[in-house]
Amino acid sequence: MIIDFHTHIWNDQMHDIDTFIKGLDEGGIDKACVLPIAPYMSNEDIAKLVEKHPDRLIGFASVVPFSQTTGIPRTDPSEELRHAVEDLGMKGLKIHPLIQGFKIDDPGLVPLMTTAAELDIPVLLHTGPNMGKAGRSANGKVELIEDLALMCPNTTIVAGHADPLDIATPYMAASMPNVYLEPSISWTKRHEILPKLAAQVIEIAGASKVLYGTDYSIGRGQRVTDINDMLDDCHLSAEDRDLIESGNARRLLKI
Ligand SMILES: [Zn+2]
Repeated sequence: MIIDFHTHIWNDQMHDIDTFIKGLDEGGIDKACVLPIAPYMSNEDIAKLVEKHPDRLIGFASVVPFSQTTGIPRTDPSEELRHAVEDLGMKGLKIHPLIQGFKIDDPGLVPLMTTAAELDIPVLLHTGPNMGKAGRSANGKVELIEDLALMCPNTTIVAGHADPLDIATPYMAASMPNVYLEPSISWTKRHEILPKLAAQVIEIAGASKVLYGTDYSIGRGQRVTDINDMLDDCHLSAEDRDLIESGNARRLLKI
């Protein structure tokens, strides 16, 4: 069983859900967490997709943590999150420091993170640069996850992309019970030049702290192939591979 903790169905792909599912089949993925990015995508749209494919899709919510960032009038982000989880059945929260314009260690995030803890859902934050797009890279430095985790000890925090070249990355996952790593894009890029790095990061962090994630969307099937190849090259025990591919996600998502 493989649960992909990081996938997207973009607004212009909503009508093409069959192609998305076909890509999951080709990559051997059983279930995919679908992550919107507020305010550009709607939690309601994701909920409708999940309703059509409840056996394959797991909906995540997204809210804008600081409404002043976008100038779009919004309700309180904690209330929005509560609605998305309790009424729409979302299983996690995704927030993006670069696109949504905040710094990962901003104490203003604490109320939203505390709400996520109360709702018992994990929060995935994009970390690292915005892959060549707009946004201030310094806002998303992976080591800031440690400070956020210290401010919000009861919230489960997943570092999306989790740059394995940053030496802090595996150690903060190893030492902080509420921090997890998700390897999409950055681990596979590094793997091309440093083929032993991923295995070493998993060894330090512990297999129980790494979640299978690809950042797959329609047309990006190569990202799934790359993660699968990288995990093959890590020569993990069957038990560790199972934790990474689904065991940890099942535990965090309670499925
Ligand atoms: Zn993504």
